[in-house]
Order: sequence, then C-alpha cells, then structure tokens
Amino acid sequence: MSVKRPPRRADARTRPAAWIALLLLVLAWPGGVAAAGVPIEVDRLRADLPASAIDELRAGAHDALFEPQTYAALVPSPDGAVWYRIRPVAAWSSPFSPVLRVFDPQGLRIEAWLPPGYAGSTTSIYQPLADPGFTRHALVFRLPQDLAAGTPVYLRIAPERAIPRAIDLVPVTEARAQDLARAQLDIVFPAVQLATVLVMLSFFFALRERMYIWFAGHVLFIVLYELYAFGVGYGLPPFHWLAPLEARPLWFCAALSAAFLCQFTRRFLELGSVAPRLDRLLVLAYWPLAAVAACAAIPPLSAGWWLEKALAVTFAVLAPLLILAGLVAWQRGGRRGGFYLCAWTPGLLLVFVRLLQLLMHWPLPEWLVFTLPATFAFASLVLAFGLADSTLSIRHERDVANRLAERDALTGALNRRAILANLNGAFQRAREGGRPLSLLFLDLDHFKQINDRHGHAAGDRCLGALIAPVMSELRQGDALGRYGGEEFLIVLPGATAANAEVVAERIRARIEALPVLVSGIRIGLTLSIGIAGLDADLVTPRELIERADMALYRAKSSGRNCVRTHPEEPLEPVPESAP
Ligand code: GH3
Ligand code: MG
Ligand code: MG
Repeated sequence: MSVKRPPRRADARTRPAAWIALLLLVLAWPGGVAAAGVPIEVDRLRADLPASAIDELRAGAHDALFEPQTYAALVPSPDGAVWYRIRPVAAWSSPFSPVLRVFDPQGLRIEAWLPPGYAGSTTSIYQPLADPGFTRHALVFRLPQDLAAGTPVYLRIAPERAIPRAIDLVPVTEARAQDLARAQLDIVFPAVQLATVLVMLSFFFALRERMYIWFAGHVLFIVLYELYAFGVGYGLPPFHWLAPLEARPLWFCAALSAAFLCQFTRRFLELGSVAPRLDRLLVLAYWPLAAVAACAAIPPLSAGWWLEKALAVTFAVLAPLLILAGLVAWQRGGRRGGFYLCAWTPGLLLVFVRLLQLLMHWPLPEWLVFTLPATFAFASLVLAFGLADSTLSIRHERDVANRLAERDALTGALNRRAILANLNGAFQRAREGGRPLSLLFLDLDHFKQINDRHGHAAGDRCLGALIAPVMSELRQGDALGRYGGEEFLIVLPGATAANAEVVAERIRARIEALPVLVSGIRIGLTLSIGIAGLDADLVTPRELIERADMALYRAKSSGRNCVRTHPEEPLEPVPESAP
C-alpha cells in the first residue's frame, strides 16, 4: 500500500519568497539621485611628488606627467601619495556656487589646493573640525562661483588602499539636498534597528534565553558599524572620541557584529542538532572574529591594512557559510531557516558585492550606500519576527504536549493520572465552596466475552466508540477519564447524587442503544454504573472512589446494565439544570 505524503505546509515555504519579493521592491526604490553638475576632466600624476611641489605643478612644470582618467574617481595607492588635477570642462554657470565631492571617504587623507588662493589644507572625515555644513558621507570642497573652464583643483592623497572613490562637481544646493536625504536615512534605519535591540533585550531579561542577547549584540554592533562607516560617528559625541583611531572602530564593530551573528545563527537555527558540522565550523569562525575585534581595539596591533584584509577574507568565507546554514535548516523543514534566509540573503549578497568591489577596485555605486543599512534594518525586523514566531511555536508545541500527556492513547478520554488530578481539584473546590460533587464509576458488562468472541481489536474499537456518546451526555466542567481496562470515572461538580443518577441513567440507556459496528457485525454493549456523592463524613477523594466502586459492585450483582448509588437508599432527585 502506498503511503500518501501529507500536503506540504505552503506558508512555511512560500512566505520567504514573498519576503524576498518585497525586499527587491524596497531595493528598487532608493536608486541613485543623478547629479546635475558640470563634467570634469580628471588627470592623475604618474610621479609621487612631495606637497612642496605644488608651485611647480601650478606653473605647468610637470604637465607631461599628468595622465587623463576615464572615470571620475580618485584611486589612492598603498605605495605612496597620489596627485590628481581636476578641471571643469565648461565655465560654471549655475546661480549657486560649486562644490567638489569625494564619495566613500573612509580612510582618505587629502591635501587640497583650491582656487582662487591655492592655500593648501588637509582634510579627512576623522578631523574634529571638518566642514560643519555637511555630514561626513562625502568630503566636500567649496569652490568659487566664478569658476572658469579649465581652472584646476589639485589633490594629493596620502597612501591608502587602491579603492576608487567617485567624485563630482555640483551646485552646493544639490549637494546639501542629497546630504540631507542621507542624514534622514542615517536616523531612520538605525532607529528601526535600535528598537529591535531594545525589544530583544527585554525578551532576554524576561526569558533568560541567550539567543536574544546574541541577536541584540549583533544588531547593536551593526548600528555602530554603520555610524562609523558613513562617517557620522566621527563627528557625533561621544562616538567621536574614537576618531583618532580612524577606521579601526569600523573593523572592531564589523568583527564583533559578525562574531555575535555566528552565535545567534547556531542557536536560532538549532545547528547543534540540525547540522552539527556547520555548527562546529561556526564555533571555529567565532574565535578569529573575536581575535580580529580585539586586535582592532589595540592600535599597535592594527597598524597597516592586514587586519582589514583578514576581516575581508573571514567575511568572504563566513557569508556563504551562513547562507548554507540557513538553507540546510530550511531544507530540513524548519520555519526558522526560512526566516533566516529571508532576513540575510539580501544583506549578505550586498556584503559580498561590497567585498568584490573592494577586491576588484570598482567605485562604490550610489545605491549600495543606501541599500546596505536598509537591508540590515530589514534583516533585524525579519529576524525579530522569526524569534516571535519560534516563541509562538514553542508555546504551541508545549500546549500540544501537555494535552497529549493527559490523554489516554486508545480512547482519547483523560488518562488515569489526569482524571484523578481532576477529581482531587473538584473535591477540594466542592469542600471549600460547600457545593455538591458526584462521581460515577462505569464498567462495561461482560467485556471479557466481547474480547473472546470478536477479538481484542474489536474490544478496543468498542472502548473508543463509547467516549463520544458518553461525552454528549455531560456538561462543560464535567470530566470523563479512563481509570483502567474498561473502567471509567466521571466527575460531576455541582451535582448531588440524585442529579448524578439522572445523568447515569441517560448514559446507561444511550450505551445500551448504541450501534457499534465492527467489520459489519453489530456488537451490543451495556454498562453498569456506581454513584457516590460528597458527604460530610468523606475525608479524601480516594474514599469517594471506593464508595462509587462499592455501588458499582451492587449494580453488577443486581444483574448488570443498571445504576446503583451509595448509600443503598435511593435519594429524591432535585431539579437539574439543562445540560
Ligand atoms: P463484568 O465487568 O461484567 O463483571 O465482566 P467483564 O468481562 O467486563 O470483567 P472485568 O471487568 O473483570 O474484565 C475486564 C476485561 O476487559 C478484561 C480484559 O480482557 C478487558 N480489557 C481490559 N482492558 C482492555 C483494553 O484495553 N482493550 C480490550 N480490548 N479489552 C480490555
Ligand atoms: Mg472491570
Ligand atoms: Mg467489566
């Protein structure tokens, strides 16, 4: 016989796809704002001249050494200083004065000689007194309004990794508008992330589950990373205290954030049981990251660029590893894996593109600046949803387990432990509230014969078949449980023994009339029922059971298929409320 596979739960698998589609939509939104400036000619000097050579350069002594560049970008060199000459192709005609912008200024230290005076000055985003009119997303050089075509700007860039940095010449108003838009995003995305950090911290303090603290740490260091990566931190108290460390706070935050991510991933995806090998790899990745963070915090250890290179290599290995962990967890049926992939795939892909860009020396595209914090904020939101979702499913599993633990596997009625616990509680409440309580003891008649005649399996079917009809005769608050074998207890809170007799008689008659069909054969079932009510002289629930058992014994000896009450004299029934 072929076994039918249960239908796949569509929501767990398709929801991640919907999230990714939504993210792509979001990504499509910020697209770069085209600069409306004047075209520029960019020339790079082939020799490493000292700053004092500016007068010779201005006099045209080294014009032959200038090499025209195809792209409007500055490319530093790690081996020595690099000179650039930048000239507007046409005279400046906008009513607003021009500014020269150098994007992605992390790590740059530029000496600039600007018209009209050509007095040299050094600029970097780490300076406490950088131009206060702009954020540090770009280095901005103000130029005179009457800038003639061909008027040169000379820049000398201190040794630095050869990452191209885009440049342009635009009206100051446009530079300000774009800068303001970026400053607003500097607030929006970290605000979203910090809100999730606070929620996760409160979860941690409430639930004492370390996964939340790893997640909070990861997101917090991402926010700090962004703060320094976009230069904001270098001008903002108290973060600007670390400005003398230049790019090192960046490495420190990136390494720590990734280390926290490793730990969070292991716990969130339950890799220890889902993919033990990946789990061990992530443990291994954690220590180099922690070591890089420690080195970045100690200036003598982080001199030179080796640390950043080590970090780039670690990330290049870690990013696919994390995606793989998410895929494996997802493949093995976990909703958490789905949430994880949704949250991280876009962010990690962008990090990967960024790494490629660093390695291949591509200029940073405008949209990458906007999308990176957006994807990080998106990831923290999705993961926060994932955590809430898994907390919900843990609660659901616990409820199901609790329910199963108190049910009898064959009949679905309460099991012996649960019905006794129910009786104890009802006994206690009836005593305290001075309210009546009755107990019915049910035993199937000649059940051994049924087993002998029709087989044990048929007997089992009979036991299961009588639960629903019996339940339908009970009120909410009554409880039915299997005491053992073919014996059942029914607890009737609020019912006197006389009320209980009415209920018992209904049950007896119902079972007598019950058509139980097994393999086309009708099996007749009858019940004997003993009843005991709560009396002043009763001390324990056990005594109540013993009395009901005694009444049952009398029912059996009276010929079965009947109801008997303890004590022997029948009681006057009092009107019973509707079932
Ligand atoms: P009576 O109660 O009327 O005196 O006769 P009886 O034949 O029912 O006797 P008793 O209550 O002593 O026997 C209980 C029988 O119920 C014994 C056993 O074969 C049967 N039984 C107990 N548990 C199960 C069960 O889980 N499945 C089935 N099929 N039979 C069971
Ligand atoms: Mg029995
Ligand atoms: Mg029996």
